[in-house]
Amino acid sequence: MGTIETNIQELISKMTLEEKIALTIGKDFWSTNGVERLGIAPIAVNDGPHGVRKPAASSEIGIGSSIAATCFPTANTLACSWDTALVEEVGEALGEECLALDVQVLLGPGVNIKRTPLGGRCFEYYAEDPVLAGEMGCAYVNGVQSKGIGTSLKHYACNNQEFERMSISVEVDQRTLREIYLPAFERVVRKAQPWTVMCSYNKVNGVYASEHTQLLHDILKQEWGFEGVIVSDWGAVNEKEKALEAGLDLQMPGYSGNHTAIIARLVRDGQLPEAVIDEAATRVLHLLLRGKESRRPGFVFDQEAHHLLARKAATESIVLLKNTDHVLPLQVEQLRSVALIGRFAKHPRYQGAGSSQVVPTRLDTSYDELQHWLGDNIHTTYADGYDEEGSLDEALLHEAVEQAKAADVALIFAGLPGAYESEGYDRIHLFMPEGHNRLITEVCQVQPNTIVILHNGGAIAMPWIEGPKAILEAGLGGQAVGGAIVDILSGKVNPSGKLAETFPVRLQDTPSYLNYPGESNKVYYGERLFVGYRYYNKKEIKPLFPFGYGLSYTTFEYTRLQINKTEFNTGETLDVTVTVRNSGTRAGKEVIQLYVRSLTSTFIRPNKELKAFVKITLEPGESKDVCMTLEERDFMIFDDERQIWYLEGGEFEILIGPSSETLVLSESLIVKEDPRSMAPLFDRMSPIKQFLKYPKARELVTNAFAGMPRAALFLDGDEMFTSMPIGKMVVLGILTDEKVDTLIEQANRMSSI
Ligand code: BGC
Repeated sequence: MGTIETNIQELISKMTLEEKIALTIGKDFWSTNGVERLGIAPIAVNDGPHGVRKPAASSEIGIGSSIAATCFPTANTLACSWDTALVEEVGEALGEECLALDVQVLLGPGVNIKRTPLGGRCFEYYAEDPVLAGEMGCAYVNGVQSKGIGTSLKHYACNNQEFERMSISVEVDQRTLREIYLPAFERVVRKAQPWTVMCSYNKVNGVYASEHTQLLHDILKQEWGFEGVIVSDWGAVNEKEKALEAGLDLQMPGYSGNHTAIIARLVRDGQLPEAVIDEAATRVLHLLLRGKESRRPGFVFDQEAHHLLARKAATESIVLLKNTDHVLPLQVEQLRSVALIGRFAKHPRYQGAGSSQVVPTRLDTSYDELQHWLGDNIHTTYADGYDEEGSLDEALLHEAVEQAKAADVALIFAGLPGAYESEGYDRIHLFMPEGHNRLITEVCQVQPNTIVILHNGGAIAMPWIEGPKAILEAGLGGQAVGGAIVDILSGKVNPSGKLAETFPVRLQDTPSYLNYPGESNKVYYGERLFVGYRYYNKKEIKPLFPFGYGLSYTTFEYTRLQINKTEFNTGETLDVTVTVRNSGTRAGKEVIQLYVRSLTSTFIRPNKELKAFVKITLEPGESKDVCMTLEERDFMIFDDERQIWYLEGGEFEILIGPSSETLVLSESLIVKEDPRSMAPLFDRMSPIKQFLKYPKARELVTNAFAGMPRAALFLDGDEMFTSMPIGKMVVLGILTDEKVDTLIEQANRMSSI
């Protein structure tokens, strides 16, 4: 036991029951309790994730009125950078702002999977893929925590929609849970140990996340070895004693009820073991001591440097979706006039609404930044194009179209208005408002050189896709987004963002379309593993833009894919190397994506799954060898029947390329079945062919059938016979009851088969 642990045990032993219970609930909105008598100070916990939101008083919710802090790009946007070093840098800056604002735990990151693009908090979540979301989450946590500030990994688990978020039950099978919805959390917990994990409001398979023993105690604490505090989302606790017993350590926020007295009575009446309180109090105390150590009174952060970092982060995250005739970057020396169109040029959407809403230290608009860049030699005009709600306004539309007609180039700023994307409710369709859509359509009819710049926190439909020559997805780029857009338009920075979610053509094509938003307070995850590109790819539905897609002003060539072995055994790693060359004339960055495909599985599997990625910088003509390492888990599935991760033997392909739909190189690999995990559970309904698959079980069945009439049919016959359950051999008069029972018992007893 280390000194901190001894110290904690000593302190706990000095506390009264009431003092320990008080540690398991907040004092007010944004602070925990402490134990003044023992010199243990409370700590401050504040939102998060893409900026610090600290209200002036701890008793205020303070949305829209918090102390100014740098507003970085939101998670959906930052994920498009696919740049873990950048996200870590943003995390470090956030950590510094926490030091300056005396915040000890920052409530983020959110790593839930984007199941439907309609999800109100899609902007707060990174991706539709658990590896990308998990890697982004690790980088964020490492960055913030490197400054001695804690994080809160949220919302655990399955907060994938806002509709009825506080009560709905997510009905999800264990395999889907383990392979899609939990791995991002697992990755961050195992690799980065966030100081806290925040449970979600919703139920998972009928049990509130805050009371979910399997999720909180069994999986998070026991299986993944989470060492920190499980905190409730604000108001997510329904029955406090159930939550404590399930493994929840800290209920937030504090409220005025006589919480401590109620819990103390339960303990004294023997209805709640004191050990449960001790466990929670010990974890919270550890958190308070860590928080105390990190305090830096008088710390000041560099606002200008953080603003520049916000600009860099936004620039790196912009995705170039279309660039016909290389209209971008703009050749400024060939331009005489530019029409700037769309209210968003002057009033950008740069973050989403709800608890994450930051009051920025400043805000750069595209309008100002473009004026600054284009200077006096180029004539610019400006038109709103649509009203504040995005509604169609014929006069504004007409003005914009006239200006576009008269210019060399039109830049349209459009997207989703603020009211479309918020915590607490979902979008109802994929469209931008009519005023935005009509503006783009009509301007494109009069101006061939139209460039659309989009501000939105999730995928949208683009019925006007054929019109503009170029489309830039700027997402919700934070307070420096205006400058970032100019960096890309001007070519000062070569775009390198790639989509972190599929953009579908229409809502009807989306994976959860038939199972969203649910009914009778339940939502069935009926599409199972087929979320995002896993679905579009398997169903061969062409999306508008696929996951991982994004253009550059240069081109890249992929060659020499090599793997360091062709046969993979349990416990090994696989090194995958590929050479990537910048074959164009500009320096640029490329995101190299590695997907794994199983060719022979007996399980239902997606056609390919992202398992690793890396972002590199290349000068024109330069080549680099990139190496990515895979582990056995990258080939495994979660076996629902046996509740274990299972390495199924068979043939696999390693696929490499610049997007999920453009995988240019592949190599094959034979994976050897894991002899430790392969022992199947046999019962009377196990088909004979299942026994035949395993040499020792095959021997048992062959012996059992020895001398029986028609035995050969079942042992070597066709599917009709070998697929019969072993138990049916009794009713068919082929084997006796005793023989079948002994056979099953022997097969299940074999440690190696
Ligand atoms: C949100 C959390 C947030 C908390 C505190 C909740 O409503 O779901 O993400 O951290 O409020 O503001």
